Amino acid sequence: MLQVTPVPAFADNYIWLIHSPRDRRKVVAVDPGDAAPVHRALADQSLQLSGILLTHHHNDHVGGVASLLQQHSVPVFGPASERIPGNPKLMREGDHSWFDELDLDFRVLDIPGHTAGHIAYTGHEAVFCGDTLFSAGCGRLFEGTAEQMVGSLAKLASLPDETQIYCGHEYTIANLRFSLAVEPENRAAREYLDECQAKRSRHEATVPSNIRRERNVNPFLRCDRKSVIRAAEARAGRGLNSTEVFAVIREWKDGFKS
Ligand SMILES: [Zn+2]
Repeated sequence: MLQVTPVPAFADNYIWLIHSPRDRRKVVAVDPGDAAPVHRALADQSLQLSGILLTHHHNDHVGGVASLLQQHSVPVFGPASERIPGNPKLMREGDHSWFDELDLDFRVLDIPGHTAGHIAYTGHEAVFCGDTLFSAGCGRLFEGTAEQMVGSLAKLASLPDETQIYCGHEYTIANLRFSLAVEPENRAAREYLDECQAKRSRHEATVPSNIRRERNVNPFLRCDRKSVIRAAEARAGRGLNSTEVFAVIREWKDGFKS
């Protein structure tokens, strides 16, 4: 399995360092929103930056690129339809970001919704999905529609069950409190909340998650379940189709205080 080191940044971001299976000291950084913690992690662990993958244009995901490129001349990959610093190679659905000398190869998925051109990178039984799918949640709809986000989440959910999900933020506990507001009887979500609270009390990351778990605890991947439909319809006060179920719980979450 892929070796990946989390680098915490800002209040709750994760920058991921993907280690080459051929030489674990060589790493590819995913969404380096801040350069300082990456420089520190490279120095502390004697690692060599060998590439950068970017999922979307928000500054907390790309803000460190220019500074990293001043010290490391490495290839940068980013979404084809967004304005991104660092002159990245432009990637869209089906393209591959590969690093020959690292034995790393990722296939690109278009996953619009949070931003209009958001992409994910999948390979080696992992997916790096930025701010689209979180553990027990999903990104806010800043530039896309509910319909686009539903399609993007379905695309991610169709990856193999054991695919490790590396998302951009540590939001799991707040997300699970919302999951339980939508589905109070969801035992898997309750048990997962206990597990995540124990991890956070030890200052450990709750992510990566995996697709199998998310299907059980993430209300945004459960819009076809009776319990989620019932909760959304009760909130809306009318019958809803599946995209409307998603839109209602997304809006509910936007105003939810955990
Ligand atoms: Zn974002």
